[in-house]
Amino acid sequence: MEKDFFGFPLVPINEAEERLKAKATRGIAYFSMEFGLAPSFYNTFKPGAKVSPLNISTGHEVFSNMKDMDYYHLLPVKNLIDLPIYSGGLGVLAGDALKSSADLGLPLAGIGILWHKGYFHQKFWFRSGGQIPEETTWDPDSYPGLIRLKPTVEITLSGQKLILNLWKYYVFSYDRKKVVPLILLDANTDENPEYFRELTDQLYRSTNNWIKIAQRMILGIGGVKALDTLGYSIATYHLNEGHAAFAAVEKREGTFSYTCHTPVEAGHDRFDLQELEAALGKDGTDFIRKYGRDEKHHNLANLTVLALNRSGKANTVSKKHNDVTHLQFPNHKTKIDNVTNGVHTFTWISEPISNLLKKYKEKIGDWEANPKLLLKTEYLKNDPEFRKELWQAHLKNKEHLAKLLKHWFFEKDVFTIAWARRIAIYKRPGLLLEETSHLIDIAKKYGPLQIVIAGKAHPADVPASLHMDQMLEKINFLNGERKYLRICFLENYDTSFARFLTGSVDVWLNNPLPPFEASGTSGMKAIVNGVLQLSTLDGWIVEAADKNIGKIFGYTPKEGEIGQETNLRLKEDSKELYKNLDDLVHLYYGTAEGKISLNESGWIDMMINCISQAGVFNTHRMIEEYNEKIWESSKQP
Ligand SMILES: *Cc1c(COP(=O)(O)O)cnc(C)c1O
Repeated sequence: MEKDFFGFPLVPINEAEERLKAKATRGIAYFSMEFGLAPSFYNTFKPGAKVSPLNISTGHEVFSNMKDMDYYHLLPVKNLIDLPIYSGGLGVLAGDALKSSADLGLPLAGIGILWHKGYFHQKFWFRSGGQIPEETTWDPDSYPGLIRLKPTVEITLSGQKLILNLWKYYVFSYDRKKVVPLILLDANTDENPEYFRELTDQLYRSTNNWIKIAQRMILGIGGVKALDTLGYSIATYHLNEGHAAFAAVEKREGTFSYTCHTPVEAGHDRFDLQELEAALGKDGTDFIRKYGRDEKHHNLANLTVLALNRSGKANTVSKKHNDVTHLQFPNHKTKIDNVTNGVHTFTWISEPISNLLKKYKEKIGDWEANPKLLLKTEYLKNDPEFRKELWQAHLKNKEHLAKLLKHWFFEKDVFTIAWARRIAIYKRPGLLLEETSHLIDIAKKYGPLQIVIAGKAHPADVPASLHMDQMLEKINFLNGERKYLRICFLENYDTSFARFLTGSVDVWLNNPLPPFEASGTSGMKAIVNGVLQLSTLDGWIVEAADKNIGKIFGYTPKEGEIGQETNLRLKEDSKELYKNLDDLVHLYYGTAEGKISLNESGWIDMMINCISQAGVFNTHRMIEEYNEKIWESSKQP
């Protein structure tokens, strides 16, 4: 027997397995279509055999307003690729949830899919603007920490046998003493016909409804069977999004809970009942006719409705989202509670900030054992030494950023703002570029601006892709303004860029059109690093709005109103964005240039407020709440 598991201890693995298999255990199964675990920078396993070069990332292209540089330089990021079974925020939340469940020692197992071709690799169409989606190729067999299991499971799809391979990945706690297993299902086996084998190729890239239904059957039905096959004692099946709702068809008597992640109409899965019956069979479809019929269109199955009807408890992901969801699903109001999202502190905190906070543990408390204690960072506000060291830690992070983007002339002493997340219209990715003359005006008044932008548009989201093209074009036009503005659009946004950017810029920009952002989490990754927020009043920000963690601006709908997703209010809101940015840049340069002392600077106050609020917006607090409000109370005795 091996002495270790890819450099990590074996004991916690055996303990977790034994516990999950014990009859008396009331385990939790966490189903999710995607998991973002970011092992390239957190709990990185030691490679076993030789790691395939497919699992190592190569450089990224950059699209900037310094085209000569783009032509000569790739952004050199050479490390293990992050397990490519996620697309964005939803997957990262699921990954962070597993990590905090391990930290808290819960008897929980994750269930997901092994996507052989990942989500997609975003390639810039060099020098002419636009993104080209490419398949991700990677090698699961040599991916550190990922192991093939012997047992397989079988489901019936369109009247035919579909065999699913099982894989396991272990998520360790921050102190490596506890473990949560993640089971991944995989249809790519020789025993299946070709059209079945491709079902677990690409996440969210299904060309037709049959594939979508099949993928959801693999996750929901295959997932339940996998848990039974492995002998895990599961008391609660948790559905992270409606994608996994077919689990309720497989386990009719099971206890379910469900997290809804979006107030956007198109975000709910709906399928024609006849099409569904062809794939799922009559019995399962009759069950869905009873519990999962769309409330408006009776010929459609609605997986959100199915999940709501079959769950003892459901939750939204921010208080604001809870209000909106209650308006959208008035019939289910009583069971829809709220658990505001968080992020996993140890995954997203940068080294300089982590070292600083460790040094001040006596004042803050053991925040590593309990990240909620970060709230106490507040008490260090009057400590001049801490204020100075915090600024220095931040400058260290900025030094890294300046080094990475040195070919684009980034400097550590220049004000830097980032917008990075999925390119979707309601998130208004180009708001900052709406009227770029204002940016130049601000830079002329106080000092130059560095802007980093990153994000993928879903290839089927045509408006988002077009929007991205327009942004690239605008950046291109700013080629002559390099004295004032340095703008870089980084190719292929992923978890490693997310970690890097949320830790190293001065201001994190978040400007969705309220109320369409259910929560948002990237800003939470930024605050734990003392990075200020410039945000509209939506999602989690509403709960931190009175905490002085930056600037809040823009339109908010009247109470009880949802409003129009298409009325983007770009003109009005960009004006407010520039006004607030002006204030921030003014304060930044005043502080950075010593015109305002660190002891007096409101900038440092806000940085400390950010870190302190990271005591609230973390997955440690979130998973404790899930356990108390959702899982414990949904388990039937
Ligand atoms: C955190 C994260 C997101 C989520 O960003 P939001 O601000 O919540 O939209 C998306 N993509 C990646 C790679 C992330 O790490």
